[in-house]
Amino acid sequence: MKKGTLFIFLMLFCAGELLAQKDYVILVHGGAGNIKSLESDKEKAAQYYTALDSALTIGGRILSTGADGELAVRAVINYFENNPLFNAGKGATCTNAGTFELDASIMEGKDLSAGAVAGVKFIKHPIDAAWAVKTKTPHVMLSGDGADEFAKVQGLETVADNLYFATPKTMKWVDEFKKASKKNGTVGCVVLDMKGNLTAGTSTGGMFKKQWGRIGDSPIIGAGTYADNDGCAVSCTGHGEYFIRHAVASNLSFRVKLLHQPISEAADYIIHTELNSNAGNGGLIAIDKNGNFAMPFNSTGMFRGYLYKEKGKDKTVKAVGIGENMLVK
Ligand code: ASP
Repeated sequence: MKKGTLFIFLMLFCAGELLAQKDYVILVHGGAGNIKSLESDKEKAAQYYTALDSALTIGGRILSTGADGELAVRAVINYFENNPLFNAGKGATCTNAGTFELDASIMEGKDLSAGAVAGVKFIKHPIDAAWAVKTKTPHVMLSGDGADEFAKVQGLETVADNLYFATPKTMKWVDEFKKASKKNGTVGCVVLDMKGNLTAGTSTGGMFKKQWGRIGDSPIIGAGTYADNDGCAVSCTGHGEYFIRHAVASNLSFRVKLLHQPISEAADYIIHTELNSNAGNGGLIAIDKNGNFAMPFNSTGMFRGYLYKEKGKDKTVKAVGIGENMLVK
């Protein structure tokens, strides 16, 4: 090996970052919060592990065919939006008016194209409406009634009653409104597909008992979601107001792209130093074009998982987690 090549290799190796060695990668999250104690409830924890595992299997299968990353991101988020365990679609948390107002966004790193919906009440799969905004309009975000109406015109599945999104658990909150409980479980997915493109998506019911009309970070491109092939793909979860103030998702991508910081170092800095010193609770999942990824959180836990296939190997590597430890599947 020539001296120069050896030097570059050593620099990259020391930085803990490796050049593309993976055919494809998928990361998912199902929300962050003080959820570590859930690990000791074996039955409940198993439900989350199974759901995270299923989400990874759905996305991994799509990526293994060489399909575009957006198909995997949308299929995974659709799955979470149908699963009442999570705070997205059915099972979403409610507003202080006892209603359900959903937010979602999606972005592709190959051309920085993006779409989002905010405060929608009748769209079964907000992530699909975000995709329709990206692909069918010249806009990036639609909100409220206009977004609900747009989804209908696009032929997307809508629900007649906003209470479709309720579950026995959320109905209890709506009924006994003073109850001091909250639900974590915003969902997100970031992928590196076989073409080398990055995609990120996020979907949520927002923060528990949010003021009706409040919009969080999840549908805001640059705050809760971002993707740039030259930076990274990011999906965030946590106290949205802080993620907006720190423009967390684009902040991370710019650190990778412009400062050439390794993704895990940059992500750790934002979550543990920037946000922590400002009391912003939460975490993120992020991946760069070489398949390096990070999943930091400053709460006690974050529902999360990863699946990747290394070049030249047949088997995929898969793991899911709630607290610090990951369970390799
Ligand atoms: N970030 C979401 C919001 O602020 C909530 C969450 O991720 O739990 O709406």
